[in-house]
Parts: sequence; C-alpha cells; structure tokens
Amino acid sequence: MKILFIGAHPDDIEIYCGGTILKLVECGIKPIILTVTRAKTKKKMRVEESMMAWKVLGVDGFKGETKFKSGELEHKLSLVSYIDQVINKFKPNVIFSHCLEDYHQDHRAIAMSVRSALRGKDITWLTFPFHEKFINFPYNFVVEINDYLDDKNDMLDCFKSQKDKWYLKKARTSMVERFKVERIVWTEQPLVKK
Ligand SMILES: [Zn+2]
Repeated sequence: MKILFIGAHPDDIEIYCGGTILKLVECGIKPIILTVTRAKTKKKMRVEESMMAWKVLGVDGFKGETKFKSGELEHKLSLVSYIDQVINKFKPNVIFSHCLEDYHQDHRAIAMSVRSALRGKDITWLTFPFHEKFINFPYNFVVEINDYLDDKNDMLDCFKSQKDKWYLKKARTSMVERFKVERIVWTEQPLVKK
C-alpha cells in the first residue's frame, strides 16, 4: 500500500496529519509527503523545519518545483500536470490532500488540482481542513492519535518559527485528526500486511 500526502506549504501536512503518519509508520507503511511550494526567503526556515520533522516522522518527503510559489497556486494545467507526474512516479493507492472547502486559496488550488489529476485513476482520496476553527468541515473519518501525541509533539517542536501560532498550539493537544473520504477505490491489497 502506497500513500501520498500532498500539502501546499511546509508544515501543512505535518501539523494536520502528523499523528496519522506516525500511526501508519508503526503499521509498516512509509508514506511520502509532497510539499508543493518552495519557500519565499522569509519562509526558508519553515522548509528546513519541515525536513527535520520528516526525520522525526520517519518518512520521505520532497519539495515541489521552484515554479510553484506560496500564495500563488492556481487550479490550472501546470499544477494539475505536476500532480499527475508525481502520481505517475509514486503510483499511490491512497492520496491525502487539502479539502475542497478550505479557506486558503493555495489549499483549495491543491484540492481542485488533485481532483482533476485523479480523473480516470483508481486511487482513494481523503481530504483534511487545515485548522480546526473550520468547525463545519464535513468529516467522515477520524483517526485517534492519543497514543502518538507525545511523538507528534516532538515532531511539532521542529517548527520553532511557528510555535506561537494558534493552530500549532491546537495541534499539540488534539487527540484526533479528522478527514473526509472523498472517494474510495476498493483494492484487494490490505492496508496493513498481517
Ligand atoms: Zn498551508
């Protein structure tokens, strides 16, 4: 089972899906994280922090091409084609990405482009809202992470530049991570090998 997480910015995936990733790694699955935008100069630190976080999570991650800039993502052919290429390279069975309902334009551009890239592909897709002020997010899949919260906090410690942000503080105490299953493609392959 191959799982690909796609986020717009360094820290999106780590903050919202970190506990789920830790749980997957313990089950023997090593997800791949794609951060689509490169950092602007002032955000370079976040990229380095994110790379440190990947080590704590025990996953491989990689950054997108330099042409994608934070704040400027759009749902158009270049982004859809790039996500297509990444999908063709890693051949994931499951993709996690931002949700279509997200308030941030970059996050929405990722969600819409993932949906476009999934046309004709047998891939299950789950989405997440970036932060939990988004109380009306119509989640239908919840991952309990209470046993992984200490490790998630160790990973969140890597994001020193974000430590005072409310969403990072919220992530430190949240016992669950919420997702919306956009579509399920049944597979004969078990999620976890027994
Ligand atoms: Zn973001």
